Amino acid sequence: MSNSGITYSAHSGWADTPTDVAPGLDGDTTCDVAVVGGGLAGMAAALRLAERGLDVVLLEAGFCGTGASSRNAGQLTGAPAGDPELLSALHPRRFPPLVRFAERAVHFTEGLLERLDTDCEYEPTGNIGAAVSLGQLRRARRKARILQKGGGEAEFGDARELGLPDSFLGGILEPVGGLLNPGKFTLGLRAELLRSRARVFEDTAVEAVERQGSRVIVRANRGRVRAERVLLATNAYSRSLVGPPARLATPVWVSMVETEPVEPGRLEEIGWTSRAGIATQHNLMQSFRPTPRGTITFGVRRLQLGRGAVVDHEPPRPVVQDLVRGFHERFPSLRDVAPRRAWGGWVALTPSWLPVAGEAESNVFYGIGCNGHGLAQAPYLGTLLADRIAGDELHDDLRAVWRQRSWFAPSPVFNSPALYAVWAVDRLSDRLSRRTGP
Ligand SMILES: Cc1cc2nc3c(=O)[nH]c(=O)nc-3n(C[C@H](O)[C@H](O)[C@H](O)COP(=O)(O)OP(=O)(O)OC[C@H]3O[C@@H](n4cnc5c(N)ncnc54)[C@H](O)[C@@H]3O)c2cc1C
Repeated sequence: MSNSGITYSAHSGWADTPTDVAPGLDGDTTCDVAVVGGGLAGMAAALRLAERGLDVVLLEAGFCGTGASSRNAGQLTGAPAGDPELLSALHPRRFPPLVRFAERAVHFTEGLLERLDTDCEYEPTGNIGAAVSLGQLRRARRKARILQKGGGEAEFGDARELGLPDSFLGGILEPVGGLLNPGKFTLGLRAELLRSRARVFEDTAVEAVERQGSRVIVRANRGRVRAERVLLATNAYSRSLVGPPARLATPVWVSMVETEPVEPGRLEEIGWTSRAGIATQHNLMQSFRPTPRGTITFGVRRLQLGRGAVVDHEPPRPVVQDLVRGFHERFPSLRDVAPRRAWGGWVALTPSWLPVAGEAESNVFYGIGCNGHGLAQAPYLGTLLADRIAGDELHDDLRAVWRQRSWFAPSPVFNSPALYAVWAVDRLSDRLSRRTGP
């Protein structure tokens, strides 16, 4: 739907629905491992299991990749999603393994990109945690030190050193990772999976996961799978499913906007010479990235909680308007560049901002909640879980996010008034830094 020149979409801005959607499950079948959910986590897991010779069935409600995996900003980031200051203070011993997990996830995903038939437009520019006020700049310097101490690659620099646009002061360069086209990546992985020995059923919504003796029964809308083991990779949509532990993660809607193409040379003129992805140091970041099609995409700044069923929809108009305001504030000399498209998707947020993986009950595994860093972490997590399910010891990187108990406390942080208050605090700090100068 179009509104003030912006086309609103309930689908990804990067990928069209494939024309070869696989037929749904109709009737009963058996297998070694059933994977529920065909995002990057579920697809990578199914591919690995098939390559290890297991009989694997993947069940996906829509088409593989229809969720967050094809809708995101395409920033392949090599740091943990949580605030490093908080993480290192709360989990001093676990922090270095978490940093290692995040960086290895990127290296793993870079390898995966290379083996796909598709050119995913990957540019290894790194990503920058950028500051827009002196307070954010101090925070960025501290975070860079903490990440380095945790064994991570991070460099603090000023705007010119980092090739940031004029209105940013500086920040942390996380050199591991870069930018890619998530639609091409996700559909490329889907094509690889469809070529493998895995049996893929799309258009198949799983309703319940139940135990029957030593086997697990996966009940879908038009059939059932009897499996030895099950992997739940349902991410933000887990709530609609009977079986996974309650309160694993909170589904939160994130909106994205894309501009019209910007004339060649203008990004360099405003100082964005690095062409790296940018995420501000606000409590709720604003992200910006250039694309190979000459546009700029930007997102987050405001989050909405899902009420009831988690259903894909068009992004809310007020949120898109707020994102456009944020774009104009950060790129005042690009005010003439019109926003053209808006979409969004569901992220699974966890209170720690870390992914969670574990065994909910005997032979029912889960890997969920890569928060806003799943582009690299979800396929890596899925692959590590596949190895575990195939009988390997717990890999050190999987251990970093493994939950011994599958009980999750209710989150006091993720409620609508709290999320609105965080947005309001960010806007207040923007106003103060504009009034007093950065
Ligand atoms: C707007 C946006 C921007 C983002 N930006 C970035 C970014 O720049 N960098 C980054 O690293 N990460 C980013 N993320 C996060 C990242 O996209 C996710 O962490 C990652 O894609 C999660 O992958 P996944 O496979 O776990 O989940 P998903 O891709 O959501 O896949 C879950 C799948 O399970 C299926 N499913 C669920 N329930 C059922 C069921 N009952 N039966 C059958 N199938 C089911 C769904 O249809 C879906 O296809 C962003 C996310 C969004 C939404």
